[in-house]
Amino acid sequence: MLRVSGRFRHPKAEDCLVVKTDDYGIAVDDDVTPKKEIVSDANFLEELDLLLFPPVEKVLIEIFERARVPRLGGISSGRGWSSISTFQRCPYLWFRKFIEPLPASIFPAMEAAALAVGTIVHTFLAIYYTRMITPGYPFTPELVRDQLLLKANPDHVHEGWRVFLNYALFYQREEIMPLAVEYNLQDPRTGESCPYDLIAYFPTTIGDRLAGTYNIEHKSASRFDDNMLDGWSNDGEVIGQMMLWKRLGLHHKFGELRGTIVNLLGKQKEPQLYRTTVGANSWQVGQHEKDLRVWGAQMQHAVATGNFPRARAACIGRYGKCDLFEHCATNE
Ligand code: SF4
Repeated sequence: MLRVSGRFRHPKAEDCLVVKTDDYGIAVDDDVTPKKEIVSDANFLEELDLLLFPPVEKVLIEIFERARVPRLGGISSGRGWSSISTFQRCPYLWFRKFIEPLPASIFPAMEAAALAVGTIVHTFLAIYYTRMITPGYPFTPELVRDQLLLKANPDHVHEGWRVFLNYALFYQREEIMPLAVEYNLQDPRTGESCPYDLIAYFPTTIGDRLAGTYNIEHKSASRFDDNMLDGWSNDGEVIGQMMLWKRLGLHHKFGELRGTIVNLLGKQKEPQLYRTTVGANSWQVGQHEKDLRVWGAQMQHAVATGNFPRARAACIGRYGKCDLFEHCATNE
């Protein structure tokens, strides 16, 4: 046997595929392990789908740019809940999303249908409520739907339209005064930011929802289970919105915040609708403020020391597999 860097090279033999061994003669090379075929038939079809239909966000940006109208529903700038919650979920995922991103080709080729439909529904809702504030706003949901159909995946566009139309018909006589749509707020001192889908005033009390100003968060969902219907009172994004509302004095502009209404739009066969209200609790806001300072320090520490451990308990979560699942599973 020939010595190779502390390993031994196994002589070629017809009945053995081992190439290298350690001092005990145990195979250590992995060259004989066939490479995992990553591109399955399903992935191939998904890639083909992406070639045929560009991502919905890209098409929407083009539609708004062509009309020289600011994109409604764009991504907020600054340090928002998306960054913090990603770090809480998995420091390695955060590193690969926000510090040193991997090439786009590593991510699943196909645009996730749920994400695409959610983006479309958000855009239709934003236009719907913007037109209540500015009746001459140049877009209507129908116009954007028709333009989307020229380029985006029609399955996603039709599904988004079905969900939105059900909502618009159900709430068409609702007494509501929209005050701001897609309102992006950023604390210039800390960089903390959050977007508000809709800030609105309800002039009358209905059931346990008192009259007053609310922050309304739209969510589209396929299933209305207990987590989806009742899992919002601990939601970091919702509490963060209340925190910045108070800290940046939004009550001077829009009035005292009664709470957040999570506005659920179902994608079931017969689409359901549900609203749940989270009250603005000052003790929870205080806790959140303190917690965010600690999380912020941990993020800075991770960057300073270059330590971003993989949290493998989070590889499969509420919305299925992590985007980097294959990357972490195959080392590709
Ligand atoms: S697959 Fe798991 S370990 Fe890898 S980034 Fe995602 S959550 Fe972290």
